[in-house]
Amino acid sequence: MNCQQTIAHSASVSGVGVHSGKPASLTVRPAGEGVGVVFVRSDVTDRAAEIPALVTMVTTTELGTNMSNEAGVSVATVEHFLAACAGLGIDNVIAELDGPELPILDGSSKPFVALLERAGVRGQTASKRVLKILKPVEIRHGVKLARLSPGDGFTMKIAIDFPTKAIGRQEIRFTMAPGAFAREIAWARTFGFAHQAEQLHAIGKGLGASMDNTVVIEGDRVLNVDGLQAPDEFVRHKLLDVIGDLFLAGGMIDGLYEAEQPGHALNNQLLRAVFADPTAFAWT
Ligand SMILES: [Zn+2]
Repeated sequence: MNCQQTIAHSASVSGVGVHSGKPASLTVRPAGEGVGVVFVRSDVTDRAAEIPALVTMVTTTELGTNMSNEAGVSVATVEHFLAACAGLGIDNVIAELDGPELPILDGSSKPFVALLERAGVRGQTASKRVLKILKPVEIRHGVKLARLSPGDGFTMKIAIDFPTKAIGRQEIRFTMAPGAFAREIAWARTFGFAHQAEQLHAIGKGLGASMDNTVVIEGDRVLNVDGLQAPDEFVRHKLLDVIGDLFLAGGMIDGLYEAEQPGHALNNQLLRAVFADPTAFAWT
């Protein structure tokens, strides 16, 4: 696993954007060494349509991680796809999209893992880029905290705490290893609260959200007929988001990530803080 990887063939998946509610098709294509993950908007022809999946391209982190390039071309809700790339160790891939938002599919990374597996993983010869953390860097916002510190391999420890019996306090520790992401994390679905749906709709968001792609909580209950896939599906999904967000570093991290109530904004600020301090990291 020390050499870069891409995919062997092209493959596609279609669905709707969770916020736009509009149909969206994603086609993954092989990419050369050192290219990284690059989103390309196939529906944009009059401007630069490429958006590299890098932390510097992130423009907003409300309700998802969203990016845009210098020409103002954007791509929304990238984190579940990026988590699948990170989880499978795919370094280089072109992700062609026919609209402004990735399809939400079942709300987890599992369909993206299936997409990339269908495309086939192909080894390359250049060494992987690894971001080695050399000293602790931390971001705090009230009770929220995210920290990266030196470690051996890529381990994450996170906790969430929601004032509903459906979730409560949940903690998880996970170390990235071959097969581990698909087995333990990829299937965990996104979640939301029934009372927020109307507020989201009022601002034109969440239009594609349904119980087919979101675990919906009302009071202390999960409303989805089939319930949860595991009692701690919530914290597993937050970890999935962390893995996707941290892949925007531009390579896998060698270090320990710890967080209390992590979110897209916190993860983005943390990566920017690491890169702002040249003594905090090294590319190996
Ligand atoms: Zn998510």
